[in-house]
Amino acid sequence: MPVGGNAPITVQSMTTTKTSDVEGTLQQIYALAAAGADIVRCTCNDSDAAEGLARILPRSPIPVVADVHNQHKMALAAIAAGVDCLRLNPGNIRKPEHIKAVAELAGEHGVPIRIGVNGGSLHPDLYKKHGDQVTPEAMVESALTELSYFEEVGFDKVKISVKASDVSLMVEAYRQLSTATDHPLHLGVTEAGPPPSGLIKSTAGIATLLLEGIGDTIRFSLTADPIQEAKAGRQLLEALGLRERKNVDLIACPSCGRAEIDVYTVAQKAQNAFEEKQIPLQIAIMGCVVNGPGEARGADLGIAAGNKRGHLFVKGQNVAVVKEDEMVETLVEWAEFITENGVEAALARVDLEKARKEAEKDRKDLLAEHGDDVNEDQKKVDLIRKI
Ligand code: SF4
Repeated sequence: MPVGGNAPITVQSMTTTKTSDVEGTLQQIYALAAAGADIVRCTCNDSDAAEGLARILPRSPIPVVADVHNQHKMALAAIAAGVDCLRLNPGNIRKPEHIKAVAELAGEHGVPIRIGVNGGSLHPDLYKKHGDQVTPEAMVESALTELSYFEEVGFDKVKISVKASDVSLMVEAYRQLSTATDHPLHLGVTEAGPPPSGLIKSTAGIATLLLEGIGDTIRFSLTADPIQEAKAGRQLLEALGLRERKNVDLIACPSCGRAEIDVYTVAQKAQNAFEEKQIPLQIAIMGCVVNGPGEARGADLGIAAGNKRGHLFVKGQNVAVVKEDEMVETLVEWAEFITENGVEAALARVDLEKARKEAEKDRKDLLAEHGDDVNEDQKKVDLIRKI
């Protein structure tokens, strides 16, 4: 799995099982790979974990990184197990001779190493030197010092991360790091916490940097099932156009006084129905036929609510009218058809003129019923003026 250069940006996550639990860990790795993880990290914190790695590695569908803290011997053991990559924390494996010994053995086995600096476990000397504070400069210095030990033994298969739980600190550290080195960067907001705030913090930090062209591989660190991390990583890359879409991009209107259906419920049902399907289409759920089809003209497929009915449209063209309780299953059927046969074939199976007329009628009825001032703001303004 290439990381860096022109390679596509990859998604990482970390198992939460004991690495010595070989079957449990493999089960989680398979689930993570299915959710969008390209690379997985497992802790290698004792010899049982290292032995577990030796058994997991031949059966893993994606490359495995051994996460090593404190004991450099666990890094040596992970290399002996045949691991694909190591992560070392310079804050807690501190002796230069230990770091160099790991780099030398990694070099002999062609195993890359991520220098994983973490704001929360910065080397105490650096913390002191930078005014008893975790600063971007201190984190970058930690990474570059580790890099200099690697260079002394001629090792350069390196990725670097400078994670912090504070988004601004993390962003600034990566910006500085990207000007100081050409090595691939692994992005993440560490200890981001549970969703939704953890998702927001991670997205803010990672997306900011990716849009600046910084970063080669990403990890969402959530206090949640790691499957959510993998999904979030994949979805972020898809949203930024950095990864080919494999799953539905669901767009939905926020609803308003004109909505003819419960947009939230229908959108949620649609999200659940499409969740596990490999349908790379943009699908729209719009609350009314007045603005819906027009606003979602770019969508491959969508539904806009008419008078308790759903108007299905493909690329902005009305194709069918369906009952409210059949909207989601009809969407799924059309989405699967389009994915298999294309838009033209989908349009060819209906009477477009008839569908357009039906939609037009609903649109007119709705406008007549609700008028233009659907949210009644003009009424309120008139009332205020009378006070
Ligand atoms: S006007 Fe229609 S499409 Fe737009 S927010 Fe309101 S209900 Fe949704």
